[in-house]
Amino acid sequence: MLKKRARALVGAGLGLAALVALTGCNSASPTGGNSGESIRSTSDAALFTVAKDVKLHGSTTFDRITKNGKITIGVKEDQPGLGYRDATTGSRSGFDIDIARWIAASLGYDENKIEFKAIPSANREQAIVNGDVDYYVGTYSITDKRKQVIDFAGPYFVTGQGLLVRKNDDTVKSHTDLAGKTVCSATGSTPLQNIQQNFPDVKTVGLDLYSACADQLISKQVDAVTTDQAILIGYAAQDPDELKVVGKPFTTEKYGVGLTKGDQAFQTFIDTMLTDGPDTWKAIFEKNLGASGMKVTQPPVEK
Ligand code: GLU
Repeated sequence: MLKKRARALVGAGLGLAALVALTGCNSASPTGGNSGESIRSTSDAALFTVAKDVKLHGSTTFDRITKNGKITIGVKEDQPGLGYRDATTGSRSGFDIDIARWIAASLGYDENKIEFKAIPSANREQAIVNGDVDYYVGTYSITDKRKQVIDFAGPYFVTGQGLLVRKNDDTVKSHTDLAGKTVCSATGSTPLQNIQQNFPDVKTVGLDLYSACADQLISKQVDAVTTDQAILIGYAAQDPDELKVVGKPFTTEKYGVGLTKGDQAFQTFIDTMLTDGPDTWKAIFEKNLGASGMKVTQPPVEK
């Protein structure tokens, strides 16, 4: 089952790349510039430049990055358009991935000094608390509960919980049609928690990955997948003959960058970068999600 999905995901990656090429936003020409650092990434060089001689006093995260000589970033890799890894080429793409690269570049770190680590929803707080990642960028909703153990920079994106069903299913048109249905979502996610707490007539299946939920939807083991609509749009785009997104978003999910609790200098650094970079934000959005039809503007950062 997983193998089959992996093949489908490769196809989706190519499809998105083709859309990007059509919009003319993707620059495939690697540029070295005169910074002395080799920029071997295919597209981020066109979106932002790698800063030089960055100093950030009083940040334990920055100190750790400096000591390691590289940045470790927690991400998703099965969410096309947001956080995705092409299984054939190993290349990563998506809105979240480019936000993660933009932060790294602002800190002075090029693509070849980034180590991406795929971490599922349920394990994010622990990975940050353990110091396994320097920061996390992956459809990570800012919540008070999570803020008890970690901090967030941002928000940098706003979406809401939605529903994905099989293309030929007309019985679920919105979240009010879910009674008696079986709905799949990721363990440790806000959408799963919402269904379990507020939809008592709905059966739930919790899996590690949303791509595994989409597999179960196609094979009719579940009736719907629920998570942020921005994520579901990616699965529907990859399997348009099998899947569709229905209804309007029924929660508000504000995505933040997950950070070690108490590192205010690091948080302020990222918030300032976001606030000062509306054109970069827009370029990253257009490149990755512009063809999706989503209408999203950059939200202001919050204290
Ligand atoms: N944004 C929601 C959350 O943080 C759902 C997406 C995800 O699990 O990454 O829980």
